Amino acid sequence: MGSFPTGGRGSRPIGGLVSRHDVIVIGAGVVGCSIAWHLAELGACNVLVLDRLQIGAGTTAQSSGILRTHYSVPENVALARRSFSAFEHFADYVHDEEAASGLVKCGYLIAAPEGPRLAPLRASLDQQQSMGIPLQRLDARQAAERLPICRFDDAALIGFEPEAGFADAYLVTTGFARAARRRGVRFMEGVAVQGLLAQGGAGGIERRITGVETSQGRFEAPLVISAQNIWSRELEDWTGITVPLVPERHRVFALQGPEPYTNAMPVYKDLGSPGMLYCRSYGGRQMLVSEGIGGEVLAAPDIEPGDIPMDAVIEVGTQVAERFPSYETAGLASSWTGVYDVTPDWNPVLGRVQALPGLMLAFGFSGHGFKLSPAVGRLLAQEALMLPTDLSLAPYAPERFSDGRLLTGLYGSGAVS
Ligand SMILES: Cc1cc2nc3c(=O)[nH]c(=O)nc-3n(C[C@H](O)[C@H](O)[C@H](O)COP(=O)(O)OP(=O)(O)OC[C@H]3O[C@@H](n4cnc5c(N)ncnc54)[C@H](O)[C@@H]3O)c2cc1C
Repeated sequence: MGSFPTGGRGSRPIGGLVSRHDVIVIGAGVVGCSIAWHLAELGACNVLVLDRLQIGAGTTAQSSGILRTHYSVPENVALARRSFSAFEHFADYVHDEEAASGLVKCGYLIAAPEGPRLAPLRASLDQQQSMGIPLQRLDARQAAERLPICRFDDAALIGFEPEAGFADAYLVTTGFARAARRRGVRFMEGVAVQGLLAQGGAGGIERRITGVETSQGRFEAPLVISAQNIWSRELEDWTGITVPLVPERHRVFALQGPEPYTNAMPVYKDLGSPGMLYCRSYGGRQMLVSEGIGGEVLAAPDIEPGDIPMDAVIEVGTQVAERFPSYETAGLASSWTGVYDVTPDWNPVLGRVQALPGLMLAFGFSGHGFKLSPAVGRLLAQEALMLPTDLSLAPYAPERFSDGRLLTGLYGSGAVS
């Protein structure tokens, strides 16, 4: 069970500062900052956000920033759709004329050849259309007009989503944080949460969370929201709850090809490649590319840069050259790694922990949390304030794994979900 204080210790100052808030958010990544902004926007007073590092310095800093509503899981489509309009009108959304999301609205192209990924693509496109998402089916010639550096001769189905593209995760995170601060939210950086405070748990009294124990003392609140991403497994030590999460390291490459991948060219998802590659423009000239399948499983959360062996460069480079013929001679401009918080069904865990009142969770975004962050922040803030939620959080419930109600998409493992 680890260090899980019980029995009414939460209100006494032990070894330092005690401070009381209405809601404490652990983690100032894009998800924590979005939650904080939405709490303030919906009228919460006295919100505290704590981060061991700095605002946006966790895995958010590693994001490829791609925004699309293409999912086979309809709940994700709805979240992504709501979120896209926030990215598109970000300054209005956070009531700050200086705020920007850095959106490049270049659209999203997705293609599959004959084979196992064709039926999921067809079903997902049909579903998106039935949900009112603007969508076009393109033939190979039309697709090549949008992305002339790519070959589509083997494509059996191509979808194009115009209301999509990519944005800047740092701008969005700091935009949410600044707007939240203006509404009175307190941010404390360099403060590590080391445990949760609780009361009850004995003599038939329900055990409930009452705050956090940190490197700078105790902070009390009737509600704690963990937005800790890959570090969420700390909750297992603090509370004994199960956090089904694996940190997975992924590699991202920036390639300089003879033909530019411009900002006018859409994001491209290649369901025909072994690694289900995703590609987008990088800096208006280079190609950002990464595999959309499982990565390197880490024993512990770690965002330090990982090794990128030459074999891995060749493996991805070969897949790129297969699809983008002129990139056969591309050079590697840069490369980096980032870590996903992967759940068993590659979908996030959102909402209250039923067995532990006073604790809410937001983790497990499995490589696709940036595009969902505005809607997720709003839903969790609504839930926290016991307001009706815009969409149901039930499909994302923490208990779905133990209840056998997984939210597995048609594509199986992978961030396309
Ligand atoms: C390589 C890569 C590419 C990606 N590409 C995309 C993409 O194209 N599109 C997309 O939608 N998503 C993408 N994602 C996913 C997306 O970026 C993440 O889902 C999202 O940024 C996660 O935000 P977060 O706030 O949950 O986590 P984080 O940004 O990791 O924030 C968690 C914060 O919690 C803090 N914290 C943790 N434990 C404690 C503690 N005990 N005390 C205090 N603070 C604590 C950490 O310091 C950290 O700042 C990608 C991710 C990676 C790694």
